[in-house]
Amino acid sequence: ATEIRLASRPHGVPTLENFEIADVEIPVPGEGQILVRNQVLSVDPYMRGRMSSAKSYAEPYEVGKVMHGGAVGEVLESTVDDFQPGDIVLHGLGWRSHAVVDAKHAVKVDPEAAPITAYLGVLGMTGLTAYAGLLDVAEFKEGDTVFVSGAAGAVGSVVGQLAKLKGAKRVIGSAGTDEKVKWLTDELGFDAAFNYKDAPVAEQLRAAAPEGIDVYFDNVGGEHLEAAIDSINLHGRMAICGMISVYNNTEPAAAPRNLASIIAKRFTMRGMLVGDHFALQPQFVKEVAPLVASGELKYSETIVDGIRNAPQAFLDLLGGANTGKMLVRV
Ligand code: NDP
Repeated sequence: ATEIRLASRPHGVPTLENFEIADVEIPVPGEGQILVRNQVLSVDPYMRGRMSSAKSYAEPYEVGKVMHGGAVGEVLESTVDDFQPGDIVLHGLGWRSHAVVDAKHAVKVDPEAAPITAYLGVLGMTGLTAYAGLLDVAEFKEGDTVFVSGAAGAVGSVVGQLAKLKGAKRVIGSAGTDEKVKWLTDELGFDAAFNYKDAPVAEQLRAAAPEGIDVYFDNVGGEHLEAAIDSINLHGRMAICGMISVYNNTEPAAAPRNLASIIAKRFTMRGMLVGDHFALQPQFVKEVAPLVASGELKYSETIVDGIRNAPQAFLDLLGGANTGKMLVRV
């Protein structure tokens, strides 16, 4: 069996040196546990936070210990009646080829209903984040003009499409390459999109949304957040989901410098954590799974082969190599 450990804590942008790949014995399940052969692993931006020792909503990874994350795999052995060998399960012990999981922390998924990769993305954590963030946190309503940053990523691509499907007046997205921008407008039906590396975000957003925006779904923070504050309309709403532009900062970011306009414009900014919205999961799956099955809601996955490439896949995710969900096939 293979596992990926945190070798050292990164300072600034992480590198391969921060990871250790170890070959270990296949673990043996105890009472109440199952042995899972992982098939696909999730790498996610929040893991950057867990590589640091700073206190946050998720426990820091321990140096020298195997890392954690979402994974889907096949049950090889079980000591409980609820799971049988051959079952496919979703659980939180990724970053390893074989996992011993407490049965109460595993969820069976149906590989006939959707490809197993979808349970880590469009029908999983990132899809629920998009759904809860747009509908609950940003209180999206029909006729809103919506701007989403990180729009070609796992969360952002679902946010924009859901807004369109639910009657947004206009949906605008930003992303870091021209191919991604083209994908947003040509394939996903965004009304406008721009490459944030081409020109100042505020300028590009103003051009794309001449009448301003009602909802901003933030995946990026920094300059994007300032631009959204500039363009947001009276009583606009912001769901603050992620700020990937600052995750590798070694000094706290100063922006947004224009926050004082929150008074005149009376807009709201609400932080969110998907973990607070698990009660929405059944409603989310009921509504979104058919949209995915019918092709009305499209999704993309960037799949890297081989568990030994998981650290590089994570680094590439932070660098923007993915379109849609970044995953590792074990
Ligand atoms: P993505 O699939 O969006 O992957 C990350 C993307 O971020 C990259 O592809 C890259 O795309 C973009 N990016 C990287 N650096 C920068 C930068 N400096 N400026 C702008 N864009 C950058 O990841 P997810 O969809 O999984 O996550 C999106 C965001 O949502 C993250 O901030 C994450 O932390 C957050 N999140 C929050 C949750 C919560 O509960 N609050 C739950 C899940 C995710 P590009 O080529 O466009 O630069």
